Amino acid sequence: MKKITIAIDGFSSCGKSTMAKDLAREIGYVYVDSGAMYRAVTLFALEHGIIDGDKIDEERLRQEMQNIEIAFRFNPERGRPDTYLNGVRVEDRIRTLEVSSHVSPIAALGFVREEMVRQQQRMGQEGGIIMDGRDIGTTVFPKAELKIFVTASAEIRAQRRYDELTAKGEPCDMAEILRNVEERDYIDTHRDISPLRQAEDAIILDNSHLTIEDQKQWLLDIFHKTVGE
Ligand code: C5P
Repeated sequence: MKKITIAIDGFSSCGKSTMAKDLAREIGYVYVDSGAMYRAVTLFALEHGIIDGDKIDEERLRQEMQNIEIAFRFNPERGRPDTYLNGVRVEDRIRTLEVSSHVSPIAALGFVREEMVRQQQRMGQEGGIIMDGRDIGTTVFPKAELKIFVTASAEIRAQRRYDELTAKGEPCDMAEILRNVEERDYIDTHRDISPLRQAEDAIILDNSHLTIEDQKQWLLDIFHKTVGE
């Protein structure tokens, strides 16, 4: 059977990646977390002094883009791919609040997006892929056969992020996380290039009050309907 392309977009911390990776495992597709790629670029910029406070040295980052190689390798223990930056596993380091609070301005830069979109399209050229992000159904794969737009209230998303960081033992502050979630929502929906918006042909899922299990089943049902099984 022909393998389709599945685009899952939505706001930060709304559980897109959990549902996307579970579906990928269930149906044997490749899962790509496009946010991890923007996070990896941000980590590189932080570690190379390209970001200083709120200032980004855009010219240097533009020159360094050719030295940033991002790859994913499936980690059977986690049941999902880990992110590698220039051959080094950075899965945990890209999830810190420091990276979260610098990633949206980096992701708003045209030359960063161009390069990421090019790599994402290359990863998806064979189909059989589930990619989650902000512009997958609108820019990366506008012809995706199945598009989902996920949303949930900012408070619920902040709570989920808080629980996630606390479980990892990372000290965090709820008010700071909520501020970060709202700030990223604002930058992601207001940037000039590929702002976060629902593709016209996307199916909306508000998962504020759904369990992970409910979501998983909902997505699996929609997938089967789409491929006509
Ligand atoms: O999905 P996640 O929250 O990890 O993404 C981190 C950030 O990367 C987002 O807040 C957004 O600024 C950016 N992003 C993007 N386009 C994507 C995926 C993520 O601009 N396709």
